[in-house]
Amino acid sequence: MTESTGKVNLLGLTQPQLESFFESIGEKRFRAGQVMKWIHHFGVDDFDAMSNIGKALRDKLKASAEIRGPEVVSQDISSDGTRKWVVRVASGSCVETVYIPQGGRGTLCVSSQAGCALDCSFCSTGKQGFNSDLTAAEVIGQVWIANKSFGTIPAKIDRAITNVVMMGMGEPLLNFDNVVAAMNIMMDDLGYGISKRKVTLSTSGVAPMIDKLGEVIDVSLALSLHAPNDPLRNQLVPINKKYPLAVVLDSCRRYISRLGEKRVLTIEYTLLKDVNDQPEHAQQMIALLKDFPCKINLIPFNPFPHSGYERPSNNSIRRFQDLLHKAGHNVTVRTTRGEDIDAACGQLVGQVMDRTRRSERYIAVRQLNAEAEASQNATNRN
Ligand code: SAH
Ligand code: SF4
Repeated sequence: MTESTGKVNLLGLTQPQLESFFESIGEKRFRAGQVMKWIHHFGVDDFDAMSNIGKALRDKLKASAEIRGPEVVSQDISSDGTRKWVVRVASGSCVETVYIPQGGRGTLCVSSQAGCALDCSFCSTGKQGFNSDLTAAEVIGQVWIANKSFGTIPAKIDRAITNVVMMGMGEPLLNFDNVVAAMNIMMDDLGYGISKRKVTLSTSGVAPMIDKLGEVIDVSLALSLHAPNDPLRNQLVPINKKYPLAVVLDSCRRYISRLGEKRVLTIEYTLLKDVNDQPEHAQQMIALLKDFPCKINLIPFNPFPHSGYERPSNNSIRRFQDLLHKAGHNVTVRTTRGEDIDAACGQLVGQVMDRTRRSERYIAVRQLNAEAEASQNATNRN
């Protein structure tokens, strides 16, 4: 458990929030800009390093505030250049952050929650249950840590991180305020200056929150579709029972049309062998997404222990892609990166202190199923 100091953590404050903080301690609002640059452009966590701030104010800040990122537990670098950090958050759980360099781009995949309550059937994060929402400082803190590790300071001049995707652990729309604050810092010139097109929030489809998001921000949006019909999606993405396809796609359409300027929805579709990878699924998807402004990203399933799913063959993946492509869709297949350090999509497990006890139940149910299967096989043999 990370100890609480009772001080205000300035790391997670947006510019307006930091201005209010300075006002609340009887100081001028412009100090916010100075301090944000020190924190985010220069990676500073020590008030004494802020050379354009006088000693009296630095002492005042030291008494009431701090700049504290999550604790880095480990950092791994894959043979393909992918990096993974495990960081400990205040609740005591650990979450993961992944950096993926590709061509001239560097994409940081950021976590929003320790674990996830939504329990998608093929996701290892979901299988661990839920522990806690990350604070805004813990969300932006992942960008802060990654950026510092490249030594590319100031961040805005020599950028290692060009894109951020909220596709790490957790459902970002269920930690709305903290995720929105952190994304605002990512886009702010006083923060990381990343363009709104290059910050992407991925959701499993919490429809009302997609509409709420559209009221406050204009980042890019990705929907984790994974199935082209409600019965199958109910099995794979249980939140679909609450917000079925028609409802969630309506919210996405509203969100995208607000953005204008030729922006499109990214559809993520994890391909699971013999489950959602058949030509009939591609055909249903084509019908479902007819006239929808979108691009499709196919993610071959990344296995994890006891998942019960398999990755389709390269031929089936290609066949699925071709069908969508022939119907006029822009379709990419996500290449798996960082497998040697378990950094691929859906492999992020951190170390979640599960409050829901789902992981225990999951293992117990898997064991029962395996035993039932073994006894069935034995009966069949006799
Ligand atoms: N909770 C959000 C964002 C995090 S998951 C969401 O669901 O959209 C990021 C993406 O990885 C999602 O599309 C998710 O469905 C996918 N994913 C999860 N487990 C996976 C696995 N084992 N293999 C491949 N993709 C997976
Ligand atoms: Fe949660 Fe996303 Fe995993 Fe579903 S896929 S369990 S929403 S993290």
